[in-house]
Amino acid sequence: MILHIDMDAFYASVEVLDNPEFAGKPVIVGGLSGRGVVAAASYEARMFGVHSAMPMFLALKKCPDAKVVPPRKDRYKQISRQFMAILKSFSPLVEQVSIDEAFLDASGCHNLFGSPEFMARQIKNKIKQHLRLTCSVGIAPVKFLAKIASDMHKPDGLTMIPVEKVHEFVRALPVKDTPGVGPKIFQKLNKLGITTLGDVRDFPENMLEKKLGKFGKRLKELSRGIDKSPVTPFSVPKSISAEETMPLDTADTDLLKKYLLNHAVKVAQQLRKTGFKAKTIFIKLKYSDFNQLTRSTTIQTPTCSSKTLYREACRLFEDCERVKKIRLVGLGVSGLVKTAAAGQMALFDISETEEKQWEKVDKTIDLIQERFGKNILKRAILTGD
Ligand SMILES: [Mg+2]
Repeated sequence: MILHIDMDAFYASVEVLDNPEFAGKPVIVGGLSGRGVVAAASYEARMFGVHSAMPMFLALKKCPDAKVVPPRKDRYKQISRQFMAILKSFSPLVEQVSIDEAFLDASGCHNLFGSPEFMARQIKNKIKQHLRLTCSVGIAPVKFLAKIASDMHKPDGLTMIPVEKVHEFVRALPVKDTPGVGPKIFQKLNKLGITTLGDVRDFPENMLEKKLGKFGKRLKELSRGIDKSPVTPFSVPKSISAEETMPLDTADTDLLKKYLLNHAVKVAQQLRKTGFKAKTIFIKLKYSDFNQLTRSTTIQTPTCSSKTLYREACRLFEDCERVKKIRLVGLGVSGLVKTAAAGQMALFDISETEEKQWEKVDKTIDLIQERFGKNILKRAILTGD
């Protein structure tokens, strides 16, 4: 089961915490200047129709007696860090979504904290005790439902959608409450006569994909209660790359390959430092006439080896047009996977041993350079003229 924990009216609640005289009164956090908007409103202010992103002048028209305070981002961040630390004391699988919101994967926590519901109560209590603030928790087998559940009984709510209720719940769920459905998609769906995820489920998949593209497929999955996105405790960078404009435009293949090798070494080092391996390698060339070209390839076994990056980059490079002179050469990687999960795909890849050996070489170079400086050790091809 997955928990979604969301602090209640976070900024406004922190202001009440720090200014006890505000308790029970309508509080609005936001700028007072002409174009100021509401960043957060206490539940007392919401009763007057005030909500976040509303222009401040309008909010004050609706609720003239509100206490208005300017946002104090540093203070909110400070409390946010404590909030996250509390969550991490329950599970290492915590994914922060925003300053006051996170997913927590409760699988494997049963022995330590009991049922997900009991665990949610403990989390709520700990937050109340340590931060003197309330939060709302949603519990469901998948992320998108946990998020919807946490919003159902705010403030101080605890809502669970058990496995056996998922289908019934999803069928009745309005598409406008489904994550990813913005006003544009909502309109498209409306035209198709779709208002709930139940309607989505009954709608032919190929038609939905034709109308909505990739999102149609995702929506179809959601309508079956399927959400494959895992709780990801770190943010995965999309790509890592290095590029350099050369001092002079050149068509010299050897020189250009030296640049590629240099980039491969840098990119591979960055991969190892951040604990990732890459599946896709790309190169970028900018010609003297500023035309640009990129080529990419996907390999079977994710890598963080400079040798593999260099080998693949050279292969791509040799397939490119090299009649014109080149002013910039770049190398990058994408399709990143965390190292622990990488390297399990091509079980019978014969090059794996060699790949492993070169990883060792790379890691050793990392260590030596860390200790003695970048210039102590270089590939022979990168030295000299
Ligand atoms: Mg919140």
